[in-house]
Amino acid sequence: MSNPIRVTIWNEFRHEKSHEEVKKIYPDGMHVVIGNALKERGFDVGTATLDEPEHGLTQAVLDATDVLVWWGHMAHREVQDEIVERVQERVLAGMGLIVLHSGHHSKIFKKLMGTSCSLRWREAGENERIWVIQPGHPIAEGLPEYIDIPQVEMYGEHFDIPTPDELVFVSWFKGGEVFRSGCCFFRGKGKIFYFRPGHETHPIYYQAEVRQVIANAARWAAPTPGAPFAYAGGRAINVKEPLEKLG
Ligand code: ZN
Repeated sequence: MSNPIRVTIWNEFRHEKSHEEVKKIYPDGMHVVIGNALKERGFDVGTATLDEPEHGLTQAVLDATDVLVWWGHMAHREVQDEIVERVQERVLAGMGLIVLHSGHHSKIFKKLMGTSCSLRWREAGENERIWVIQPGHPIAEGLPEYIDIPQVEMYGEHFDIPTPDELVFVSWFKGGEVFRSGCCFFRGKGKIFYFRPGHETHPIYYQAEVRQVIANAARWAAPTPGAPFAYAGGRAINVKEPLEKLG
């Protein structure tokens, strides 16, 4: 059997400490609940949070991470730029990154996308129907035709991201909006998946299909040997000797 995929769940871990309503749903933090979903499915799981030294994302931790999961909301600005650059470099070198829900406005996601990553939103507890629009995609493995989440915060288009390289899910909301809720991107040698569900005041990370998607995404985003990646660390290659004679 091959080695388990090593996943690090990064959580800002502030709402769970400061908001009673959130504490009731996630007493130990969302990272623990998401981590259990992955442990149950055979992943090797570690966690890291904002208030740890270096936000828990030391070079050693990142070097031993195949896929990083990111949840942040109220403290995006407190994430040090130096750590964001460290994460970006690891993604370009092949580490997978799964950005959840309000992570759309995280420094790392905006840096990797290059756009505002803004969107429309409404907090009304309406339902969301997430349609699988790419049924053959590895992230859709084992899912029904759609996932219904009974109570969510709405995110609507326009979502200011670059056109995704692969689009797996599109959401419909009772209030009438639609949203690209499962988006794949390739950056350098790394794979990135943005997945919309997960507002902190609803128990969304306990829902079986949501847990399945995160596990599928971690499997998809894990590094594969692929072809050589020459530009690690951002260096350019001076090709002094062409493969064929030039004249
Ligand atoms: Zn939210």
